[in-house]
Amino acid sequence: MLRINELKLPLDHSDDELRAAIVQRLAISDEQLLGFTLFKRSYDARKKNSEMLFIYTIDLEASNEAELLKTFADDPKIGVAPDVSYKFVGHAPAELPERPIVVGFGPCGIFAGLLLAQMGFKPIVLERGKEVRQRTKDTWGLWRKSVLNPESNVQFGEGGAGTFSDGKLYSQIKDPQHHGRKVLEEFVKAGAPDEILYINKPHIGTFRLTSMVEKMREEIINLGGEVRFQQKVTDLLVDGEQLTGLVLESGEQLQSRHVVLALGHSARDTFRMLHAKGVFMEAKPFSVGFRIEHPQSLIDKARLGKYAGHPKLGAADYKLVHHAKNGRSVYSFCMCPGGTVVAATSEPGRVVTNGMSQYSRNERNANSGIVVGIDPERDYPGGPLAGIELQERLEAHAYVMGGSNYQAPAQLVGDFVAGRPSTALGSVEPSYKPGVTLGDLAPSLPDFAIEAIREALPAFDRQIKGYNLHDAVLTGIETRTSSPLRITRGADLQSLNLKGLFPAGEGAGYAGGILSAGVDGIRIAEAVARDILGL
Ligand SMILES: Cc1cc2nc3c(=O)[nH]c(=O)nc-3n(C[C@H](O)[C@H](O)[C@H](O)COP(=O)(O)OP(=O)(O)OC[C@H]3O[C@@H](n4cnc5c(N)ncnc54)[C@H](O)[C@@H]3O)c2cc1C
Repeated sequence: MLRINELKLPLDHSDDELRAAIVQRLAISDEQLLGFTLFKRSYDARKKNSEMLFIYTIDLEASNEAELLKTFADDPKIGVAPDVSYKFVGHAPAELPERPIVVGFGPCGIFAGLLLAQMGFKPIVLERGKEVRQRTKDTWGLWRKSVLNPESNVQFGEGGAGTFSDGKLYSQIKDPQHHGRKVLEEFVKAGAPDEILYINKPHIGTFRLTSMVEKMREEIINLGGEVRFQQKVTDLLVDGEQLTGLVLESGEQLQSRHVVLALGHSARDTFRMLHAKGVFMEAKPFSVGFRIEHPQSLIDKARLGKYAGHPKLGAADYKLVHHAKNGRSVYSFCMCPGGTVVAATSEPGRVVTNGMSQYSRNERNANSGIVVGIDPERDYPGGPLAGIELQERLEAHAYVMGGSNYQAPAQLVGDFVAGRPSTALGSVEPSYKPGVTLGDLAPSLPDFAIEAIREALPAFDRQIKGYNLHDAVLTGIETRTSSPLRITRGADLQSLNLKGLFPAGEGAGYAGGILSAGVDGIRIAEAVARDILGL
């Protein structure tokens, strides 16, 4: 298999033109090209006012590969395609000494469970929330009727936190073993579009994620695993420094010396239980801020120029950072093109925002978190749970500011920057359901965060023309940007002070996003397999 890098074609090229470009680049005949796949496709948005091109990495088979390798020996853009296929670390023996347990069925728990099942370990997966169809109804209950189910919502239930999301599937993690590729391939097997394997910033959207999650559950079960819903883990069974099992809310006890803990960042009750049991954990930095909404057309024009609205490019995204004079960094977080702002609380009496989109990304507004980094040393000293306590205080205050009915506090950007409360909406209609309450967002976050965001919005306007739009809407508050603590693990990926406990994914502080949580799930399944097999 050969690889060609940086093959460039106009946006509107046909499949035949792509094939012809490969043939021409290699100076071979059409018959000599036996087949090809797209490994990567990107475009350079800086060319928005000249000619924007797709830039491809192509893997191909040719009848004369050895000869081509000689011909292009000095060409850095043509060579042997690296092997990125997934290799299992081992397989379970016919007689299993025990079944590993996976707690949580978000992306991390799904991939930990799937990989353990594929290796033959027949895992038992425990998820506190409901299966995804029922969960979807409960989640819409908050958005449509202001009724929250604390065990079945945006954060909890089959599929985890990313199920109602834009389904962005990219990450900046180091991934030398190409585990991200395995995550994407499994998603495609479960029904994601093939393009996620090669486009630069793939996304799936909410609708498809739901059925994909069900398919992955089916595969785990077909391979001998179990997936149990409404099974909240409430205690650990411990023998000295070794975990021996778990206790469920029902009182049932399950024995296992290998437990993957893939809780997500919102399982505050479970974090408190782990802390009370003495599991080593430490506070870590996270970020707080608001969701901002602009017309998507404004973002498209600023980012894509004359290519705005091009069907092959879709709705444009952005990424922004500003280092404020007070030493804080403000950045865009989880940007959702053509999407909606969602109510993302899992606890009564709290308001938290996030964003989601459908695959088509064709809603009127673009939204993004605009958040400020905070850290335990400066902002919440007081031990491992201090970040959770800060989140709870801020979210409870936002609930009251919104009217104590799950509406979110909101303000127009122009008013926020000028420091005056908003009393009426302008041209941008906020998408947050069940609705927003206009006013002054300044009391909702610490003063340093407000000051930094006030400075950042006009500065962002220099990168995206129109960003500081008076009528753009800020909806508050965004607090669950990542886990406020880390359940620290050692080189064997087990808890520092409790053997057999494998903290994983976003809640443990080892991932931030669907792809990285899936990758961590694979790594943790490998660590469990190695430990059981004595590798
Ligand atoms: C609205 C929204 C939009 C998002 N959009 C994106 C996006 O577009 N792209 C992206 O990369 N990321 C996105 N994210 C973030 C992403 O969803 C998370 O990073 C990811 O889901 C973390 O995966 P995880 O498996 O570690 O944890 P989670 O997905 O949070 O899963 C943890 C699971 O554990 C269960 N659990 C917790 N405690 C217990 C217990 N005691 N017993 C049993 N089960 C328990 C929970 O119910 C939950 O299902 C979004 C998040 C939200 C909320």
